[in-house]
Amino acid sequence: MPIRTHRETHRGERIGWLRAAVLGAQDGIVSTASLVIGVVAANADRSQMLVAGTAALVAGAMSMAAGEFGSVSSQRDTELADIAREKRELARFPEHEMEELTEIYQERGLDRSLARSVAEALMETDPLGSHVRDELGIHPNTMARPVQAAAVSAVSFALGSLLALLAALVAPASARIEVIAVITLVLLAVLGTVGARLGGAPPVRAAIRITVGGGLAMGVTALIGALVGTVV
Ligand SMILES: [Zn+2]
Repeated sequence: MPIRTHRETHRGERIGWLRAAVLGAQDGIVSTASLVIGVVAANADRSQMLVAGTAALVAGAMSMAAGEFGSVSSQRDTELADIAREKRELARFPEHEMEELTEIYQERGLDRSLARSVAEALMETDPLGSHVRDELGIHPNTMARPVQAAAVSAVSFALGSLLALLAALVAPASARIEVIAVITLVLLAVLGTVGARLGGAPPVRAAIRITVGGGLAMGVTALIGALVGTVV
């Protein structure tokens, strides 16, 4: 039983990372393709388009990294503060903490005396570790990791962004916007399907949702790009 729980935790964690990577890539594709389409609609030439697209890649990846680092860091701060508080409580109120652990095991279905024995054994071998796991629900494998989260977001965004840039690179001057839009929508449909599969959600619905969302993003940016292009 403990072995099975352990494996499930690992698998769940890996899928979490993969889903974050797929979402980052979708972000990169949509925002870079939209930006490139916006500047093309505003009559940018090929080199201006590529400069804008590259800037979108770098700025987006950095912004994803900073945002992710900030949010996962505060999650980690909360976890560390909870652990520190638990440590203080264990030192000051060991009997209260013993009772807490006993009640947790009673709630899981053990009778009072067995729960008490389990609590006593755990308080002897690893008091902090058992409270952190059983009371706070924090496991060393699932603790927030700000640097890794930031790196996954930045790299996946950059890769998605790079795909949109490649689409811009191969698109012929005569049908630049159309070709970029079609390639982007196909990529989004593929990524939407993959992302849904990983999360066990219905793939077709997810693919339609992200494709429609991406299409809207590109359409609105094209429109605004064209408007701004005629004004400036
Ligand atoms: Zn406790």
